[in-house]
Amino acid sequence: MDLKRIDRAVGAYLQDAEPSDAARLRFFRGLFELQQERCDELSGDGGAAATAVEGLDEAYLSARPLLQLCPVAIEAGDFAATCRRIAAYMAAEAGLAEDVAQALGAIDWDEFSRRADLVLAGTDPSGFVEAVRADEGMAEPFGAAAGAAVLVLAFAVRTHVQAAAESLMDAVSADAKEGNHARPLHCPVCGAPASLSHVGVQDTLQGGARSQFCSACGTTWNFERIRCGSCGSQDQGDLHYHHVEGDPAHRLQTCDACGSYQRVVFQDDLRVPACLDVEDVVMAKLDRVALDPRFHRG
Ligand SMILES: [Zn+2]
Ligand SMILES: [Zn+2]
Repeated sequence: MDLKRIDRAVGAYLQDAEPSDAARLRFFRGLFELQQERCDELSGDGGAAATAVEGLDEAYLSARPLLQLCPVAIEAGDFAATCRRIAAYMAAEAGLAEDVAQALGAIDWDEFSRRADLVLAGTDPSGFVEAVRADEGMAEPFGAAAGAAVLVLAFAVRTHVQAAAESLMDAVSADAKEGNHARPLHCPVCGAPASLSHVGVQDTLQGGARSQFCSACGTTWNFERIRCGSCGSQDQGDLHYHHVEGDPAHRLQTCDACGSYQRVVFQDDLRVPACLDVEDVVMAKLDRVALDPRFHRG
């Protein structure tokens, strides 16, 4: 995470943010800093090994998540320490109800991490979080804080995999990433669906370059300008853009082929410096728009 970039974007949004949005932005600003600090500590221990691995390009081009080739080894004690710090921050700063904050503070993360499938966490971060959520036995000790604890896990796994994700992407060749190949539909590093999409400045005849962003591991990758981020349909007739009046920078791309939507930020219309971690926070609003029945035409 680039904290300077995050600060510029958060600072710009704070200038005219409503109080509840401002509180969210400040919360995430603090969380990102904590995650990056912890990530630097872990990398200092040799956590993010250099990646001289064969077959990265082939994996990239055949939709095999790079973490399957090169999993991150996550040590239970380290993971517990990360969770503890994030949970303490959330209990203090996330505006949780008192009983939830208390339950979150009482979770024994050492015990949890000893039982958790950290091999899965280092291979498939969002699959790990989903597996814990779905497993009553694993989620039982979270008590009243189950929802918040699952978020702690997602933030913690990201902290442990983001440095490796970055070096894996650096190790993929420019030809695989930018050459004349179909782009990976899901995150090439961890396999999760993109959380949002970015269309760059439209300075060419084809329009701005598009990239996808994965908040599970922090990876950004090149993507086709006209394509559904969920099912991969490239039929222009299936794809539509919508935005809330007065905010053309933040749009929803809907797809008739699969019925899903994706959040897309347009750099040309954005009044602040783009930072996709921050956009992910800002665009959470659009999920509510997407659920609004008035949004669905017919
Ligand atoms: Zn990812
Ligand atoms: Zn689709």
